[in-house]
Amino acid sequence: MAQRVLVTGGAGYIGSHACKVLKRAGFEPVTFDNLSTGWEQAVKFGPLARGDLMDRASIDAALETWKPVAVMHFAALSLVGESMRDPGTYWRVNVTGALNLLEATVAAGVKNFVFSSTCATYGDQDGVVLDEDTPQRPINAYGASKRAIEEMVANFGAAFGLNHTIFRYFNVAGADPEGEVGEQHDPETHLIPLMLDAVAGRRPALTVFGTDYPTRDGTCIRDYVHVMDLAQAHVLGLNRLLDGGPNRVFCLGTGRGFSVREVIEQSRAVTNREVPILFGDRRSGDAAALVCGSERAVRELGWEPELSTLPHMIADAWRWHRAPKFHE
Ligand code: UDP
Repeated sequence: MAQRVLVTGGAGYIGSHACKVLKRAGFEPVTFDNLSTGWEQAVKFGPLARGDLMDRASIDAALETWKPVAVMHFAALSLVGESMRDPGTYWRVNVTGALNLLEATVAAGVKNFVFSSTCATYGDQDGVVLDEDTPQRPINAYGASKRAIEEMVANFGAAFGLNHTIFRYFNVAGADPEGEVGEQHDPETHLIPLMLDAVAGRRPALTVFGTDYPTRDGTCIRDYVHVMDLAQAHVLGLNRLLDGGPNRVFCLGTGRGFSVREVIEQSRAVTNREVPILFGDRRSGDAAALVCGSERAVRELGWEPELSTLPHMIADAWRWHRAPKFHE
């Protein structure tokens, strides 16, 4: 029988792609999700255990029913701007949810934990290419809540022998090239899907948030990683834990950043259409540039982020964008 993995947030964007790759690797992914931001139709690769991380009993019940060998924790509130407007909710949901999950995981005797963290834990680092040893200085409540969870995970590792892998990454893009799952948020706040909405005439224009950053063209620079490459890294990290590998943090990026203007430029090349744009103010909580290297993941996990080029990510996102979506 396939080994089961409890995937919190498995109905969401990254979680659903992780479920696909887990299944392909021979695991049975069990999605634990409250469907607050995820889609039931995205749960295609294994069962759905509907529950809520704020409800400890629902976590205990899922662990008891499915007896996973590992927990992969994606479920969280993840919008930088929203976290600045409503920090209390971010702290409450992200930190309490993770705490409940960690306690339930230990109580159920599950020994392996993979945590989806973020380069937003680093804050603004002045053009430095981030790596695992860069000091973490978050500048928004989202990043601060994730850093706190990283520490919780490490504490549970030390106290209870919970083996763990932590991944830090930032701008995930693209979609399953086979079109089974893709990115869909409601409301959408991310650059590439919003840009494609504007290209397709689903919204009047894309607003570029800030043109006065200290970057090469004044717009923010981000490191974009293909969602399937990211999912693959999670499976590699899981396998390493199951093989008895040590607790480790891995940054997942390409080491190359693209500005908002450069992303828009690439979109023109991929879609052959103009992107209607407006120029707006900076968005609160945004760092000027976030780029992270992934030498450790390449070296220790054998990670090969082969789909993570901007044309590939935009092309996959564009294909998904034009296909039927989950709620239509
Ligand atoms: N961005 C933008 N207009 C939008 C959405 C995003 O200019 O409508 C910019 C944003 O300021 C950031 C980059 O695009 O520099 C990526 O933002 P996104 O929300 O996709 O991801 P984040 O970096 O917040 O994880």
